[in-house]
Amino acid sequence: MCRCLRARELTGGDWMSDVMHRFGRPLDGELLLDESSRQEFSQDAGRYRTKVPRGVLRPGSVEDIQEIVRFCAQYGIPVAARGLANTTDGQGLVDGVLIDMRSMNTIHEIGEDRAVVDAGVDWLQLTNAAHARGLAPPALTGFLGLSLGGTLSFGGVPPAIQSGAQVDSVIELEVVTGTGELRRCSEQHDRELFEAVLAGLGQYGIITKATVRLGPAPAKVRGHELTYPDITDFFKDFRTLLTRAEISEIYGDWWRPGEHGEVQHLSAFTFHSAATPPDDQHVLRGLTPAETVVSQSDFLPHVTRIDVAVEQLREVLDWDHLAKPWLTLWLPEASVEQYVTEVVQNLTPRDVGNGGFVLLYAHRRSQLTRPSLRLPQDDSEWVYLFTLMTAGPASTEFGDEMLARNRRLYDRARALGGTRYPIESVAFTQDDWADHYGDRWPQLQALKQEADPAGILTPGPKMF
Ligand SMILES: Cc1cc2nc3c(=O)[nH]c(=O)nc-3n(C[C@H](O)[C@H](O)[C@H](O)COP(=O)(O)OP(=O)(O)OC[C@H]3O[C@@H](n4cnc5c(N)ncnc54)[C@H](O)[C@@H]3O)c2cc1C
Repeated sequence: MCRCLRARELTGGDWMSDVMHRFGRPLDGELLLDESSRQEFSQDAGRYRTKVPRGVLRPGSVEDIQEIVRFCAQYGIPVAARGLANTTDGQGLVDGVLIDMRSMNTIHEIGEDRAVVDAGVDWLQLTNAAHARGLAPPALTGFLGLSLGGTLSFGGVPPAIQSGAQVDSVIELEVVTGTGELRRCSEQHDRELFEAVLAGLGQYGIITKATVRLGPAPAKVRGHELTYPDITDFFKDFRTLLTRAEISEIYGDWWRPGEHGEVQHLSAFTFHSAATPPDDQHVLRGLTPAETVVSQSDFLPHVTRIDVAVEQLREVLDWDHLAKPWLTLWLPEASVEQYVTEVVQNLTPRDVGNGGFVLLYAHRRSQLTRPSLRLPQDDSEWVYLFTLMTAGPASTEFGDEMLARNRRLYDRARALGGTRYPIESVAFTQDDWADHYGDRWPQLQALKQEADPAGILTPGPKMF
């Protein structure tokens, strides 16, 4: 659908003056056309794909975004928003105009139960600001250095098991569609656009502002870190903790599997008030870990600890410059144990790498309510998010090798009822997207025609 880029329109100062002339007013922000700015935005966290934008907009207002999008729609120039570029397969890369949303980073309001924030605000910024008022977003991803626009475009899946994903706690969105129109949408108003944009991979509009729910911040967090040499015991205790519903967060992880054996770790956290710490023996009753470590933390250090760890990886391993061809899959209850066991036991050191991780989250299906977040189609109460966070040399060869591996692992998961959480790296055709969205696909195709008739928005996933 995307009309071809008219590169002539996007070269040097001519383009700039044409844009200015057409807008009839100076931009509130700035449009960068110089080589070094364009190169700076040519890769994402994957580090194996490169696409150099023809221009980078640092918007100073929503009107800047509307006008650039209108201009690009007229000339068929692709546009993509960019938050903090943590996706790994070029989802936000574009050879047209890249909109650097970091310049739209105002927290407009924090009320008793909600916050109104620009899409370029990151979750760390919002969490700190909310915490100062005794509040917290209900669903915080493991790492908070992610923009609201970036996670709301995919899901924002936390280790917390009682909260759903970040997209589930959005009350209202402000969106610039592919025609440059500014629309406010919610469950009550323009619901079709709202549900398409949430976990919509940037295909139907650019999120400029979001109203998100907040709740009282927990005071304290008790941690139980459990180690299992045997994966069957690990799954048994994982399920026991899930179904008891006494804990607040849980995830499984594997440290460098293939290198140090396949020891599985289960981390369970219980949020509590200072006056009512959980009874460790009660939480751990009937579980059979080989080792148990109990920890205690305040809430803020707990939810920001991965940001601290990533900062250390940046310093020690130059982590930002490693290739990260990650794989993230939703798995149904019926096959999660079989699939994870198969994959973990066959991982080699190269599959994970120094600075890589393997993670398993679990969620109650009934709390994941947004239709564009595609989940396994069985009717089990729990669904699992399995992530293989590979790190390796930043080369096209390594990227290609891991893309082939990821496609193989995706196909196996698909055969077992799994779906993709597409923040990561799997080569997908349009037929794959149609399969991914199932009976929702015709509705999304129609909405794409309406909201982005020139097909300019976010070409990275190659969906339309
Ligand atoms: C260390 C680490 C830990 C992570 N942990 C989790 C986790 O626990 N749970 C989880 O769900 N995810 C996790 N992620 C993945 C993360 O949620 C996604 O990669 C998310 O998209 C990143 O946000 P970003 O600001 O970096 O987005 P970007 O990579 O900048 O953008 C992602 C996509 O969204 C589009 N986009 C960006 N902003 C907008 C906007 N305003 N409007 C429309 N489209 C937009 C871009 O064009 C691009 O296609 C993790 C990533 C890292 C690096």
